[in-house]
Amino acid sequence: MHQSPRHLRTFLLLFLVTATAAGCARNPVTGQLQVALMTEAQEIQMGGTAAVEVERTIGLVDDPALQAYIQELGERMAQESERPALPWTFGVVDDPTPNAFALPGGYIYFTRGMMSLMSSEAQLATVLGHEIGHVTARHHVTRMSRAQLAQLGLGLGTVLFPELETLGAFAGAGFQLLFLQHSRSAERQADDLGFRYALEQGYDVREMANVFAALARLGEEQQSPLPSWLMTHPAPEDRITVIEERIAELEVSPATMRRGRPDYLARIDGLVYGTNPRNGFFRDALFLHPDLRFQLTFPSGWRTQNMAQAVIAGSPQQDAAMQLTLAGEATPEEAATRFFRQEGVRAGQSARRTINGLPALLVGFEARAGEVPVRGIAAFISYRERIYQILTYSAAPTFARYEPIFSRSIGSFAPLTDPEVLGVQPNRLRIVRVPEAMTFADFNRRFPSIIPIAELALINQVAGPEEVLPAGFQAKRVVGGS
Ligand SMILES: [Zn+2]
Repeated sequence: MHQSPRHLRTFLLLFLVTATAAGCARNPVTGQLQVALMTEAQEIQMGGTAAVEVERTIGLVDDPALQAYIQELGERMAQESERPALPWTFGVVDDPTPNAFALPGGYIYFTRGMMSLMSSEAQLATVLGHEIGHVTARHHVTRMSRAQLAQLGLGLGTVLFPELETLGAFAGAGFQLLFLQHSRSAERQADDLGFRYALEQGYDVREMANVFAALARLGEEQQSPLPSWLMTHPAPEDRITVIEERIAELEVSPATMRRGRPDYLARIDGLVYGTNPRNGFFRDALFLHPDLRFQLTFPSGWRTQNMAQAVIAGSPQQDAAMQLTLAGEATPEEAATRFFRQEGVRAGQSARRTINGLPALLVGFEARAGEVPVRGIAAFISYRERIYQILTYSAAPTFARYEPIFSRSIGSFAPLTDPEVLGVQPNRLRIVRVPEAMTFADFNRRFPSIIPIAELALINQVAGPEEVLPAGFQAKRVVGGS
């Protein structure tokens, strides 16, 4: 959960609109559904709106030098492309899952997870080129994955509240699945264009195969979370073969071209690695948020998920749910008024309460989730100039059984005072120059990391513990914050 209230709904809707209302037609050649009638102005407007939502909901990494770096490189490549006049915008978003995506109109984002996985400027340039290629070739959404609409298992929730429907989609396998599944031929074309753009900038295009290989390995070694870039893209093995064929045809030796490894590694030195506990984290059922300085205990045994703009939980039987969000309003009463403006939600009894010293408004409610009547308690709590909204609800017949569980959770909202938790810091990447030749295992002993060696080998793109690193080799390690 990040610091400000966020509104994902428009974001999701936007893509649905992209694929439907904005003028869908079948491509006469491929038979694929595509947005054929969109003008460039419409494309820029749509992409720009989506970009604002991306930055608001996921957030940019707070590292102006890194942002300037990707913008500068991306822009330089895009200027040489077929569509130099677009408002090309490049950024690194605050998400640990490796991914990169392009929005219509030239808005391109890399996650910090993707930045951690790559090891050279040439790798960045080839993936940038691929994403630029999606824009220059006007690949738009062809379909929304069914999986992306898969839910957390909240069952009731997704039907009852539109905002939860969006959250459910985001919770399933990460927000990335929302994005833009392109057809295989579109991916191949983007690979071709990316290869060419990177080559034109003088980059060692062999690095494109290396970055695909790293992603493929991530897919094999880490079952969860799924590397979404893989899920929305064709199998990397085939693409690597195509790249290798193309490299074999080159008249220049790629070995003479720029890799930019030290430059790139210097840019990601110090980057946050993995999930950032400053954005909230769980200790069993206890949710702790150091930046917002609160804690909340969810029902024990429930499935929970902390997302950019909400924390959600579902009962094991999937007949009850709980959701914590920040409301944008100034008072609990105003937040409650907005909530009950929703169609189909009927307010019941309300009561002013004090929860661990904080002013709160609790309102019982009834609603329908499709055919199923549900009952719940909505709580609006005022704390440090923000309003926290906690929704708890279950199928109406089981409400009596859940009510004490809901009340206990709502009543657990409290200021966070544990100095150790308040001071928690994220893990970070550090770049180390290996003083003399040594195996990767020796490197890991001499410069320990707080992640398993297999994961460390993966982000270093080295084969394994026995690989010998030459003297002067720059390696990534991951160190704890505090
Ligand atoms: Zn792609």
